[in-house]
Amino acid sequence: MSSELPSVAGACERVRAGDRRTVAKTITLLESRRPDQAARGQEILEKLVPYTGGSLRLGITGAPGVGKSTFIEALGLRLIEKGHRLAVLAVDPTSPRSGGSILGDKTRMERLAQDEAAFIRPSPSGGSLGGVAERTRETLLLTEAAGFDIVLVETVGIGQSEVAVHSMVDCFTLLLQPGAGDELQGIKKGVLELADALVVTKADGELRRAAERSRAEYAHALELLRPASPHWTPRVLAVSAVSGEGVDAFWEMVLAHRSALEAAGALERKRRGQARAWMWSLVHEGLRAAFDGHPAVARRIPQAERDVEDQKATPAAAARRLLEAFLDD
Ligand code: GDP
Repeated sequence: MSSELPSVAGACERVRAGDRRTVAKTITLLESRRPDQAARGQEILEKLVPYTGGSLRLGITGAPGVGKSTFIEALGLRLIEKGHRLAVLAVDPTSPRSGGSILGDKTRMERLAQDEAAFIRPSPSGGSLGGVAERTRETLLLTEAAGFDIVLVETVGIGQSEVAVHSMVDCFTLLLQPGAGDELQGIKKGVLELADALVVTKADGELRRAAERSRAEYAHALELLRPASPHWTPRVLAVSAVSGEGVDAFWEMVLAHRSALEAAGALERKRRGQARAWMWSLVHEGLRAAFDGHPAVARRIPQAERDVEDQKATPAAAARRLLEAFLDD
């Protein structure tokens, strides 16, 4: 990128006109380590906030190899055929972009990536999950301002990234392999509880019967869980991205989920709560950074650590002294 910063007004206009290049450039600004570039990205985003919120936000997770990219491409091409514009974002704190991220990679969804109506963005390389999730949330808002009416956020089903994606979408879907039990797939009960829908993939050919059996098993397992929302009972579907069977049914289910939440006023409540939680997580992060970087605190840390290690001070007393050093300023 040239070192010259784009004008805020010009960039906003082009994003709102749906210009994918400007969307991509603004994301690069937001991800930049150069403070002036990141600040310009934030300025652009802030101006665009009134134009956000217009998409259906769909989260998709699942173990590597379960069929996420194949499914997203099959679903995405169908949605574009129906006249939608689709953004596909990824949250993957495990793989730096330079090494080729394993998610949201353009080569994984070649046909979709070539379509003017699609915008595919790999995971930001950001180290911590918090940083990656933060950039992805911002990208989500930008793509909404650019008129993408469906935003899909994908993550690998390993660790905390599911929780982060769940906190930024309306509907959260867990993809599952046919035939393998949840222990084999490393699925934690907590993730199962987050899901609005379970999708058993690869329901075709030799795997068809196993997929159907798994579908029934997961449906039974879900019956034993208390639904997270009083307005929606999670559903289980079997789909084949290869034959296309079940893909339309999946989309109808997503729309039914949306209608159910909207009718109860729950979608708005959910989004308001997500925005509030996002703000607070930034406040807490900022406080932590200010604390960690505070000179008077830094000076006292070695002694405080020694005191608690040697049982000369209780952790509570040592913590209080550090906080006092921070607040006294
Ligand atoms: P991801 O790592 O979750 O994105 O998984 P991929 O979409 O890359 O798929 C992993 C493998 O499963 C690939 O070899 C795909 O060809 C295969 N696969 C994906 N979807 C289907 C499907 O619907 N049916 C069959 N038979 N194979 C599939």
